[in-house]
Amino acid sequence: MQVQEIRAKAAGLMPSLLADLERLVAIPSIAFPGYPPEPVDRMASETLQLVRDVGFTNARLMSVPRGYPPVYGEIPGPEGSPVVMLYAHYDVQPAPPEQGWTTDPWTATSKDDGRIYGRGAADDKGGLVSHLGTIRIFDGKPPCTVRLIVEGMEETESNLETFVTEHPELFGCDMFIVCDMGNLRVGEPVLTTVLRGDVACVVTVRTLEHPLHSGVFGGAAPDAMIALARLLATLHDDEGNVAISGLTRAQWQGADLSPEDFRASADILDGVHLTGSGALGARLWASPAISAIGVDMTSIAESSNVLIPEVRAKLLMRIAPGAEPDEEFATLVDHLESHAPWGAKVEIRRIDSGAPFVCKTDGPGYAAARAAMQQAYGRSPGEAGSGGTIPLLQTLMEVAPEAEFVLWGPEDVAAARIHSSDESVDPAEIERLIVAQALLLEQFAVGPVSG
Ligand SMILES: [Zn+2]
Repeated sequence: MQVQEIRAKAAGLMPSLLADLERLVAIPSIAFPGYPPEPVDRMASETLQLVRDVGFTNARLMSVPRGYPPVYGEIPGPEGSPVVMLYAHYDVQPAPPEQGWTTDPWTATSKDDGRIYGRGAADDKGGLVSHLGTIRIFDGKPPCTVRLIVEGMEETESNLETFVTEHPELFGCDMFIVCDMGNLRVGEPVLTTVLRGDVACVVTVRTLEHPLHSGVFGGAAPDAMIALARLLATLHDDEGNVAISGLTRAQWQGADLSPEDFRASADILDGVHLTGSGALGARLWASPAISAIGVDMTSIAESSNVLIPEVRAKLLMRIAPGAEPDEEFATLVDHLESHAPWGAKVEIRRIDSGAPFVCKTDGPGYAAARAAMQQAYGRSPGEAGSGGTIPLLQTLMEVAPEAEFVLWGPEDVAAARIHSSDESVDPAEIERLIVAQALLLEQFAVGPVSG
């Protein structure tokens, strides 16, 4: 197939793919605990039907000990052709009204800007539809063996890592295509090459044996909340750069995000500054970040005029590509223990951690992906990072150590607002991605495709 033909086919498929997307967005497939299971189960069977229809005739819901089942299927390619594994997920984030949606999150809504709004329109039902379109380009007979995994618990306590470890034979391949990312801006292609890791812990600060009368003792006896606040304040410098010495920092030479796009995607309040200094790409994808994400202390309603003896805060630290979670955690512990104010007692309990991920970018799959993006978007792709952590990638690499990872998708950073209110996708982005994925399969399996 030639590029022109692939483009024309993708354009022709779009109306029916967008109809699929509309139907899928209407299913609130929230796999979080406490949400009704019926829509998630319905989404699993819809996904199964859709992937069977495009050519994964043996697709099935895999049995898992806990949670919603992943959908797995395989289309065998010509003898001796490479094996490519496609990944997407069918569950979505919740969309509570307090997020401030301007249209119903469960009704796919086209707006004047050409985008389609709704929870999951981009993350990751847009990615799922892109895979469907890619296989339909080849009328269900791709030029290589294609395996497909669509998981149902990506946004919550995923069961897929365990599944992969228990069924490594299902995941052997030469290339993974993870369609759950996005360009920084629409029409400007990037390949995601690095992901930060993370370390979470709970820090407990104690200053008193028991609560004390604040009038009798305040002024000389330290309360634990103020001690914790002072301790947390040492984690950053005045500009907001992480100030823990000894943490790993990586170099960043890839694409950058403009402060305007970043502000717009983050809904930072007017007048509130961005933290840190230097290029945003370096801050978001190559540097550590640390946030306090929870605190246990007396609530305002239950407060009285007493000094608080003990408080706990949960800290989440993102760690740079190339960093070791154990080492970064030890560095954080050293910092917290050595910066406790007024001799306050500090105890740190680790909760969990995920390793960062760095894609190998010098293999034949990557070269094919770059060429495919160049042809699909009409410009050469840059490289971007992702600030989030996907521990699954590490597990996949363990079962398919030689495989290359291509990470991309229809979730543009500037406007898609994934996980937030008014999530949306640009259908043109889905269309270009389908062209890129089809070209990637063709070039990886057969060789260069002429224009
Ligand atoms: Zn996602």
